[in-house]
Amino acid sequence: MKLIPIPAFDDNYIWMLHDGRRALVVDPGDADPVLAALQQGGLALEAILVTHHHGDHTGGVEILRKSTGAQVCGPALERMPGPLQRLSDGDVIGPLGLRLEVLLVPGHTAGHIAYWGQVSGADPVLFCGDTLFSAGCGRLFEGTPAQMLASLTRLAALPDATRVCCAHEYTLSSLRFAVAVEPDNADLLAYQAQAQVLRQQRLPTLPSTIGLEKAVNPFLRTHLPKVAHAVQQRNPDARDPVSVFAALRTWKDQF
Ligand code: ZN
Ligand code: FE
Repeated sequence: MKLIPIPAFDDNYIWMLHDGRRALVVDPGDADPVLAALQQGGLALEAILVTHHHGDHTGGVEILRKSTGAQVCGPALERMPGPLQRLSDGDVIGPLGLRLEVLLVPGHTAGHIAYWGQVSGADPVLFCGDTLFSAGCGRLFEGTPAQMLASLTRLAALPDATRVCCAHEYTLSSLRFAVAVEPDNADLLAYQAQAQVLRQQRLPTLPSTIGLEKAVNPFLRTHLPKVAHAVQQRNPDARDPVSVFAALRTWKDQF
């Protein structure tokens, strides 16, 4: 089973998983690069998985559905284009013979879902849309800091080897902020150097892994005293975990 990030727009990735014959894609904001990849690989599109309702994740869904007949799956709680298998927390779907579990991860949007599953002969995959980015997280457009913290805590509990397939290449800018929060985190500095080399070669920094994100991503590390202290330097009122997380997110918004 091959996992491929198809670049779209300025910094989106449309993730494709295929077995050489059948394919699924996640969050196709644009149909054209997906149709090109299908044609190039001689692949039949079996399923379209959507994490949330934003246009840069859904813009290509209708064209792909009509031109390939693929089944569309998406969040039960959000407004989606066209016919859809509506998914809720705990649901399981089986495209390409896989077993993908649905996790409700509100915060970026109110009904945002993620897909996690084992892949035989390879590490598990997580399609997390705009909830978790490498060294960062999505903006809180519809959810509360408490919801986003709970969603990220759930994702952090997945197996360390899980390949994290984020929907945007935001890694370098997220890393600049992460280094401001934790200037002495050696894992973080090593990852930043490695990510810079990849981007100089125009290569994706993704997928990341859950294990790496737990070591470098400040939004998964707000329970650590040194991250809380960095936040409290700017916002002394941030005491409890949710307030620390909220103040960290606000700091990033202003960074
Ligand atoms: Zn979004
Ligand atoms: Fe997005």
